[in-house]
Amino acid sequence: MSENKDFLRTIVEEDLKSGKYKEIVTRFPPEPNGFPHIGHAKSICINFGIASDYHGHCNLRMDDTNPTTEDTKYVEALKDAVEWLGFEWGDNVNFTSDYFSQIHDYAIELIKMGKAYVDSLTEDEIREYRGTVTEAGKRSKYAERSLEENLNLFERMKNGEFKNGEHVLRAKIDMSAANMKMRDPLLYRIRHAHHFRTGDKWCIYPMYDFAHCLSDYIEGVSHSICTLEFENNRDIYDWVLDTLGLKVSRPYQHEFARLGINYTVMSKRKLLELVEGGQVSGWDDPRLPTIAGYKRRGYTPESILNFCDQIGIAKANSMVDVAQLEFCIRDDLNTKVPRVLCVLEPLKVTIENYEGSEEIDAPYYPHDIPKDGSRKIPFSKNIYIERDDFMENPPKDYFRFTPEQPVRLRHAYIISCKEVIKDANGKIIEIKAEYYPDSKSGSDDTSGIKVKSAIQWVSAAEAKKVEIRLYDRLFKDEAPEGVEDINPDSLHIIKNALIEPAVITDKPDERFQFERQGYFYVDPIDYTDENPVFNKIVGLKDSWSKKTKVTESAPEPQAKKVQVDGEVAPMSEAQKTLFDKYSLELGLNSEVANTLARDEHLSSFYEEALSVLNNPVALANIVVNEVARELKQMQASELKFNAKQIAELVKLVDDGTISSTIAKQVFEEMAMSGENPTQIVEAKGLVQISDPSKILPIIDEIIAKNPDNVHKFKAGNTKLLGFFVGQVLKATGGKANPQVVNELVARKLK
Ligand code: ATP
Ligand code: MG
Repeated sequence: MSENKDFLRTIVEEDLKSGKYKEIVTRFPPEPNGFPHIGHAKSICINFGIASDYHGHCNLRMDDTNPTTEDTKYVEALKDAVEWLGFEWGDNVNFTSDYFSQIHDYAIELIKMGKAYVDSLTEDEIREYRGTVTEAGKRSKYAERSLEENLNLFERMKNGEFKNGEHVLRAKIDMSAANMKMRDPLLYRIRHAHHFRTGDKWCIYPMYDFAHCLSDYIEGVSHSICTLEFENNRDIYDWVLDTLGLKVSRPYQHEFARLGINYTVMSKRKLLELVEGGQVSGWDDPRLPTIAGYKRRGYTPESILNFCDQIGIAKANSMVDVAQLEFCIRDDLNTKVPRVLCVLEPLKVTIENYEGSEEIDAPYYPHDIPKDGSRKIPFSKNIYIERDDFMENPPKDYFRFTPEQPVRLRHAYIISCKEVIKDANGKIIEIKAEYYPDSKSGSDDTSGIKVKSAIQWVSAAEAKKVEIRLYDRLFKDEAPEGVEDINPDSLHIIKNALIEPAVITDKPDERFQFERQGYFYVDPIDYTDENPVFNKIVGLKDSWSKKTKVTESAPEPQAKKVQVDGEVAPMSEAQKTLFDKYSLELGLNSEVANTLARDEHLSSFYEEALSVLNNPVALANIVVNEVARELKQMQASELKFNAKQIAELVKLVDDGTISSTIAKQVFEEMAMSGENPTQIVEAKGLVQISDPSKILPIIDEIIAKNPDNVHKFKAGNTKLLGFFVGQVLKATGGKANPQVVNELVARKLK
């Protein structure tokens, strides 16, 4: 459960405490007239979330009282969405139409009580008679009809004797009520239309205000949670149940604020217009804010749940920045998905002094992520790099490949430019380059050459051709009115991108980080072996606010400050000095140096930690990752820990007291409690285990439990070493010293 109780949970707890209800029953009651959107996700999270927090139940109920707009395909989409988000509604989906008979009986009861009448005014007259906010309404002369006449007319309405709109059934409440909704609200209307479930059985349909409260009551709902626009309908809700004497454990309505997101539209009706108008490819178009759209694009359910949790539940409507949702998916994928190399706009590079070929072993995950797995990247004389990563006449802050500036090929060698080849139009078509044999990435690099960035590349012969679909905001306007605000460039298809072969042959995952490009997802519909298609889920950083930012006034979401893909807006002089110091003197990699240099809070925090402990690389990593993440949620002054304590934490790792996995755990604790790392380690018994005599028995056990993998390993699948190491680390709760485990496992499996 979320730690901060919202007002709805407060109400629910009070109702349980006072004994008002024995069990909490909520419902998610969509009308099946379109695909659900992220606003519905919020409602789903609230209704199913509350039910599960208080060991109650949440019904999924299709509010199908309007035969002309509803359809089973929408029912299926709604079920899919709830399931995908990870919630369960029990054995059956409910339908308001299942209660049509009961609701009809309640209507007759109201007529018999003199509390409802058949009105025969036209729609316009009804509106006119209702009055205004300042003027009382006027009751229709038909309100004087006798019980018998009302019963008779209502029966004939039901039997189909009248045309649409000829009569309606209305509650007899108060034509001068301050709440205009209470001025004799409509309860039933005539609709000669085929209903997707009840067929032609009914030609009168209950209105929302009548059907909803009764369906809630019939289902034994305790808390009927809806959005704010129904606030004024609450009086009708109560009136119907009170008047009918439905008092025992009756439901009550509570309202919360609707979710709105900028740069999109959010009502099913408007989304339907886009789908029917062909502005998008269907309800699951990855640019739509529908659950099906997010799912197809590659969002994870976790990211959506997190988002709903973060935005909270309020009583005032507000617009949420779509950047916040994008932050949630980045945050979720950052440590989960493999990182691979893909070139979107290939530029040929020939490395003239390289002969033969080799395979470079490269991990799928960076060292600070506790996940294993690696692949071989083929390297050869003929490669492709991103066209953007080379500039012949670069501006001052260009860190990538130029005629004067060497660059590192990610995971591989440093190359420098020898010659730029152009076609007749002056377009660069090839770079002739040279590599430095002693510059291979990692500890093999003895070249001493400093570069400012590492770029993605693929080997020409082995790379696979893939289709990439890049999405931008569907609307160019922050609060779009409609079709006229559509962003004409919201979809960009690249047919001939090149990807390293392991992504296709290994298929280590369905989601990837294409290094320096963003997060991508195997399109669940169009991907085939012949034509692999990837959807861009989200970029590595918030490129949109950079693009459109005209003034400095709007605070940017902090999220992007930690996301770096190598190229950003120019640095100030001061930032450049810092960057040079960090990258050249302290030896930080250029991404980390860049992040620090550009963020004043981070760099001053870093400097302070550095003044206590001389371990620039480890400190930089924790500041750029962990500390930055905290700073996303709060001001620097609100942090529970200080730079000295972070230095102390890094020192604990340095001197082998704790493993780097445990360091993360200690950090979480520091962030929450503000306690000293040494204290936390002692109190929780987190000291690293390096003693082989303690680790060996665990290794034996894991080897005994996994004979198949042992067999595969011995048969040559050396990748499984990571598996065994991972299992041992897991068995010790992350406390074992990874290096020791690695050595011991390798020795044992020989
Ligand atoms: P739409 O206008 O998109 O059709 P709706 O309110 O008519 O939305 P329903 O299908 O009736 O949608 O909604 C089912 C539930 O989801 C309702 O309880 C509704 O209040 C809730 N809901 C709909 N849109 C949002 C939103 N943007 N934010 C939060 N909850 C929402
Ligand atoms: Mg609606």
